[in-house]
Amino acid sequence: MSEAVEVKGMVLSALPYREYDKRITLLTCERGKITVFANGARKPSSQMAAVTQPFVMGTFSVYPGRGTYNLKGFTPGQYFEEMSRDIENTVYGSYFLELASYYTKENEDGTQTLNLLYVTFRALLRGTPGRDGIRRIFELRMAYENGFFPGTTICSACGKALTGPGGEGGYFLPWEHGIYCRSCMERRKEEYKLHLKEQGGVHKREIELSPAVLSAMDYIVRGNLKDLYYPEYDPAALEKIGEVMEVFRESLGKTHFRSLDVLDQLKELSLPGR
Ligand SMILES: [Zn+2]
Repeated sequence: MSEAVEVKGMVLSALPYREYDKRITLLTCERGKITVFANGARKPSSQMAAVTQPFVMGTFSVYPGRGTYNLKGFTPGQYFEEMSRDIENTVYGSYFLELASYYTKENEDGTQTLNLLYVTFRALLRGTPGRDGIRRIFELRMAYENGFFPGTTICSACGKALTGPGGEGGYFLPWEHGIYCRSCMERRKEEYKLHLKEQGGVHKREIELSPAVLSAMDYIVRGNLKDLYYPEYDPAALEKIGEVMEVFRESLGKTHFRSLDVLDQLKELSLPGR
C-alpha cells in the first residue's frame, strides 16, 4: 500500500457508499478536488463519522489509490459546526459548496477557493451583509477566480473607462460574458441579432450597469478576501449584481444545482417581508 499523504481541505459533499462507508468529495489546497472513501464512516462508533460531513475543515491524512483516495485520519481545523444549526445557513452554505465543486478540478491548487469559502462561512455566521447579498458576492468572486469578469471598470472591447470621472457605466452582455461601453454594446448587439436570425436560439437581453454597480463589482472581484464582506454594500447594487449572476449562470449552460431548488423552496415557505 502507498504511503499516506496529508492534505488541508474541506468536505464539499458526503454520500453513503456500500453498507458502512462514505464517499466524500474533498477540496484540498495541495491536490484540488479529490474523491475519498471513508471505510466504516457510517458506523456510529466510527471516529470518522463526524468528520466526514460537509463544512468540516482540517487536515486529512489519505492513502492515494487509482484516481481516488482512502481516508486514514483527520486533524480538526475550523469546523463550521454552527452552520448546521440554522436551516437557512445550511441551505446557503450547501449551495456555496456545490458551486465550489462545480468550478474546481483535481490537481489544481484549491487554496484560493478554500479561503473564499472560509470567509464566506464566517460572513454567513456573522449575518452581514445578509444571505442573499453574500450569495451574490460569492458567485461573482467565484466566477472571477475562474477567469470570468476579468475587468469591470473598462470596456472589454475598446478599453474605455466605464467608472470614474465622466464614466457612463456599461452593459453586461450575457452571450459574450463581458461588460462593454454603450457603442461597443450596440455593435455587438447587431452582430448577435444577426447570429440569432441565422442560427436561432433564445434571445438574451443586455443588462445596464451604473458606475456605482461596476465599482462594487470591481471591489468584489479584486478586493482582499479578508475584507470581502465588510464594506456596507448598497442593497440596490447587490440586487443588480444578482440579476447579472442569474443570467450569467444560465449562460454557463450549467446545469442544475440541487441546493438551489432547496433554496427556492425555502424562500417560498418564508413569510412575506422576511
Ligand atoms: Zn467599448
